Amino acid sequence: MHKKNRYAVGAFNVNNMEIIQAIINAAEELESPVILQASQGGLKYAGVEYIAALGKLAGRKANVPVALHLDHGTDFEQVMQCIRHGFTSVMIDGSRFPLEENIAFTKRVVEIAHSVGVTVEAELGKIGGTEDHITVSEKDATFTDPEEARIFVEETGVDYLAIAVGTAHGVYKGEPKLDYDRIKAIREVVDIPLVLHGSSGVPSESLQKAISLGICKINIDTDIRASFAQAVKEFVKKQSR
Ligand SMILES: [Zn+2]
Repeated sequence: MHKKNRYAVGAFNVNNMEIIQAIINAAEELESPVILQASQGGLKYAGVEYIAALGKLAGRKANVPVALHLDHGTDFEQVMQCIRHGFTSVMIDGSRFPLEENIAFTKRVVEIAHSVGVTVEAELGKIGGTEDHITVSEKDATFTDPEEARIFVEETGVDYLAIAVGTAHGVYKGEPKLDYDRIKAIREVVDIPLVLHGSSGVPSESLQKAISLGICKINIDTDIRASFAQAVKEFVKKQSR
């Protein structure tokens, strides 16, 4: 559906109740399904149980479909904890491993997650930038190879794939240059939804073009953190006048 109609679902990183409420309000206003996702920083800050409880409540109360997703899951144990607490979807990030190891690492999670109806996102190629103090330098960032993507998806049975095509985590210094030909080439050989990480600060036209070529999930973290911090600052300033 999403591929046929060329639309993507927004996935927003959440750390607390206020951010969740703001995202749900916006999704309801726009009558759009939405993905709430917990990053490593979010889990460290709030704990898996609080995030899960808030996310599940939001899903029950909202009048749009809501998914609760683990972002950049680091290991098997963390994925299992999230599934245990009711996440509907998980990412397992084995992008630091060579292809064969990433396949084995991801496949193990896919088998277990699928047996309880939880979908799995994986990453192939290395997305640059900094997220939660994990930094991939520009020279270590590697774009996703289409042929490797085909093999990876076929062998792991993963549900959606994060690809490295020029975006990065964190704040951009210049305007990010997306490799549209690469998105297209991957889409031609991979049939599952593709995910764009590091979408904060990417111009809307670029995101729309990426979506038209096959991106189905847009991850936003930095913009949410920045606007939350800004709102808190303004509030404190007003109070201390
Ligand atoms: Zn990411």
